[in-house]
Amino acid sequence: KEEGKNKVVCLTGLDDPASELNKINRTVALIKQALKENRFVLFLQPVVELSTGRVVHYEALIRLNGEDGALIAPGAFLPVAERFGLISQIDHWVINSVFNILQAHPGLTIFVNISGISLADNRLLEFVEAMLREKGVSPSRIGFEITETAALRNFTQAELWMRRLKALGCHIAIDDFGCGYSSFCYLRALPADYLKIDGSFVRDIDTNPTNRAIVEAMKTVAHALGKEAIAEFVENESVLAILQAYSVRYGQGYHLGRPAPLAEVLTASPQEKSSAT
Ligand code: C2E
Ligand code: MG
Ligand code: MG
Ligand code: MG
Repeated sequence: KEEGKNKVVCLTGLDDPASELNKINRTVALIKQALKENRFVLFLQPVVELSTGRVVHYEALIRLNGEDGALIAPGAFLPVAERFGLISQIDHWVINSVFNILQAHPGLTIFVNISGISLADNRLLEFVEAMLREKGVSPSRIGFEITETAALRNFTQAELWMRRLKALGCHIAIDDFGCGYSSFCYLRALPADYLKIDGSFVRDIDTNPTNRAIVEAMKTVAHALGKEAIAEFVENESVLAILQAYSVRYGQGYHLGRPAPLAEVLTASPQEKSSAT
């Protein structure tokens, strides 16, 4: 039931070029309207310490509130926003919203996804720094996720972001690890705290020996680089048991907790409760 309520939909379109263009135009209009009318919402998904089940932080995941009340998944509008110069406004909105949540709920720690395009936007970095100064939120309560692909494509910018935010005391995660052009030389130079093992490797380790070996190797690489591993897409108990046996410290996935609106997280969150007592 809950799954149905928080379900996200994809935008539909036909496959011929004219209607593709039409769909893109509609998506651009939808994003502009959403920015104007504040129609974005953030869902929060827990990241869990696998040995204890403790929630260590949440990841903020954006959705667009469509006119018909349906929630539109980020995969349906973020790529368009990136191509049409709208992503930086969205990333601003996300960061601003997360700071508001952190200010109102002192028990929460939240990680934010930053688009590769926004890495080139110094004003966004300065905005984060200003928020940290002005909002009275401890920097240790916020983290930033940059995908491996984005980090290696814009290495200089990514390194700058990471260094400046690390210096302030924020957490850094390299997202979707294993899907980019993993060069250990570059990875080693990035001051990230976490490597998030891409879900495509994790979700079937209970039935796929190759992926099982890759995930264990990625955990070893993470540790060798002085970083902690977070396994994405923990979808069932047997995957969880294997990750625990491999001493992967953290996990995230539908089996551990689905992305949910803030209100639901606040009623369920041990993290928030422990701070309230
Ligand atoms: P991501 O950062 O790798 O986030 C994980 C995605 O996997 C999320 O999809 C989440 O809902 C989904 N997921 C979590 N657990 C499971 C699981 O067990 N199984 C499966 N199959 N999926 C799971 P979502 O919310 O659709 O986000 C997709 C991507 O969009 C994110 O990937 C991230 O790259 C981007 N994104 C989301 N929110 C934001 C945002 O606020 N700003 C930016 N710039 N990008 C965002
Ligand atoms: Mg992420
Ligand atoms: Mg990811
Ligand atoms: Mg992913």
